Amino acid sequence: MELLSKYNFRFSKSLGQNFLIDGNIVKKIVDSAEVEEFDNVLEIGPGIGTLTEELSLRAKKVVAIEIDNKLRELLDESLPYENIKIYFEDVLKADLKAIISENFGEESFKVVANLPYYVTTPIISKLIEEDLNITSITVMIQKEVAKRFVAKPGTKDYGSLSVFIQFYSDVKYEFTVPNTVFMPKPNVDSGVVSLKIKSELPDIDREKFFKVVKASFSKRRKTLINALSSYGFSATKSEILQALSVSNIDPTRRAETLTPREFIVLSINFPDI
Ligand code: SAM
Repeated sequence: MELLSKYNFRFSKSLGQNFLIDGNIVKKIVDSAEVEEFDNVLEIGPGIGTLTEELSLRAKKVVAIEIDNKLRELLDESLPYENIKIYFEDVLKADLKAIISENFGEESFKVVANLPYYVTTPIISKLIEEDLNITSITVMIQKEVAKRFVAKPGTKDYGSLSVFIQFYSDVKYEFTVPNTVFMPKPNVDSGVVSLKIKSELPDIDREKFFKVVKASFSKRRKTLINALSSYGFSATKSEILQALSVSNIDPTRRAETLTPREFIVLSINFPDI
């Protein structure tokens, strides 16, 4: 509070600036991430440095990326630790490979963050898809989104986001965080999830796989065959029926009943798209 008023800081709603003000929650997040003294950590959006400080006390090295240059002086004062390096840029535009190799070399690292909610999915997609040497991602995100990350087939929260996250990681819902521990208070509750990144992935055409998943969920209440044949693929309805049959999937099922494994098999058998 002192620092915020000293630097006359004004929160930016559009940058998702809801800062954590409860030290116990900060510790619980770092506990969930299982950060140890030999770990390298990447944090997105350090804000005023509350989580960054706890990370620097427990990890070997912390690299943080913050979009808001107005926090520079404040962070200089709040984080007088040698094992922290902060970059002031938009993580979505940042050359992560270069930043990581400059700071962590070839070593693996963990991601820990209280993410800005307006860009949660793009940030996580970028981290996962850039093929960086990440072992785990532990993040606080909007509770509804966290529930979708961990949702199992047959539930209302299960969708293409669940399949995407569960394709790349073993995901766990850690705990719920009420909106009262932030300043200013967001309108929603939050949840902490941890993603253990899989070291080996099925050797498939991922682009095709995610297209088939997206198309399958494009009309949630329709049968799979209806959703897939009306999506605009060049394949004919009978070719799609054939792919479903070879994959041992009843065409009258709905997308939300398919396991990630079944989507993988279907995408392998699916006509070229
Ligand atoms: N880690 C702090 C905490 O827990 O109190 C702040 C978390 S706050 C929810 C999100 C932070 O991400 C803010 O500091 C915001 O300025 C920053 N941010 C928003 N968009 C960003 C982006 N595209 N790249 C990097 N940082 C971003």
